[in-house]
Amino acid sequence: MNYRDFGKTGEKISALGFGCMRFPEYKQDEKHFVDQDKVDEMIRYAYENGVNYFDTAPYYCNSNSETALGHAVKDFRNKILISTKCPIDKGMTEKDYREHLERSLTRLGTDHIDFYHFWALNRGAFDDVVLAGNLLEAAAKAKEEGLIRHISFSFHDHPSAIKYIIETAEARGVKMESLLCQYNLLDRSNEEMIKYANEKGLGTIAMGPVGGGRLAAPTDLYAKLTGKPSISTYELAFKFCLGNPHLNCALSGMQNLDMVQKNVKVSSDDTAFSAEEWEQLGLAMEEIKKFSELYCTGCKYCQPCPAEINIPRIFEIWTYYNVYGLKDHAKNMMRDYIRRGGKTFADCLDCGVCEDKCPQHLEIRKNLEKVCKILSE
Ligand code: SF4
Ligand code: SF4
Repeated sequence: MNYRDFGKTGEKISALGFGCMRFPEYKQDEKHFVDQDKVDEMIRYAYENGVNYFDTAPYYCNSNSETALGHAVKDFRNKILISTKCPIDKGMTEKDYREHLERSLTRLGTDHIDFYHFWALNRGAFDDVVLAGNLLEAAAKAKEEGLIRHISFSFHDHPSAIKYIIETAEARGVKMESLLCQYNLLDRSNEEMIKYANEKGLGTIAMGPVGGGRLAAPTDLYAKLTGKPSISTYELAFKFCLGNPHLNCALSGMQNLDMVQKNVKVSSDDTAFSAEEWEQLGLAMEEIKKFSELYCTGCKYCQPCPAEINIPRIFEIWTYYNVYGLKDHAKNMMRDYIRRGGKTFADCLDCGVCEDKCPQHLEIRKNLEKVCKILSE
């Protein structure tokens, strides 16, 4: 495993971070459960192979992720860094912040959280909730008491808000210590702010390092650029992320042991990109970008849709059509989706709820109309 300085937090972080939002689950008597045996095995494998950063949140995996992670790491809790998040709800007070924190500590079975995030901040939530509710002060107090070791934020907004949040917090006497944001080969919009944050001393982590799965197809791009043997686009995407000198860790949501093994292998590879290769890849980006005019990360924030349209699934099928060029395969997938009762744009109620919730600000209705039409032809 490769390690980096995690900003100026004084921590060394593994190049691969374990995202705990896709643990294997099952349903019984209408209740959701995490498959704890599998999770224990995945987490232990990651730990034994050098992963030291584990990121969860209260609502992941039907609100079971924190408890499952706490169970899985109990034998080596103090040898790893645990990250979790405080939901930012309208009208929150310091008391609410504290209660969220205490519930997370209980679920995780620990007396401290290493990186406690203000969750999915945007400028509006920062101004109207974090500042208005004195939550920065609540975080500083929790840190003083040793309940959290570092104050962090995760982010979904226009990149300029990153700078605003860091500077405004600093002016209120609170230092943000790490940043978790979207970054990958297909979406480099936060790149400049990642550099800014890292130079200010924040640890930086990318979520979605392989672009919501859309970079998983093999390609000869790397071979073309470097003259070296070809690598999979999956590996390329990881290496690109980690090749950014201002990015400390790539966080991957892992679903099974196979995925953990694959990710560990890529992030332990000592054939890191040279600065020149990284630059070259950046230029080649422009070519790849033309495939990503519909950049759905599969986050599912647009769900549930009142018309029960599985928007992320349809956009995923579109990726097979548009990015991988697997047109017949994609049309078959769409036929199968419809055969199983899947709803399409024809069922859309035009309510716009999905668009209000999409962190990528996608024009969902317009895209659904186009994509459903082409995939059903
Ligand atoms: S606009 Fe259509 S797709 Fe979006 S939430 Fe409403 S019904 Fe669903
Ligand atoms: S909210 Fe947007 S990015 Fe997330 S799954 Fe829905 S369409 Fe995709």
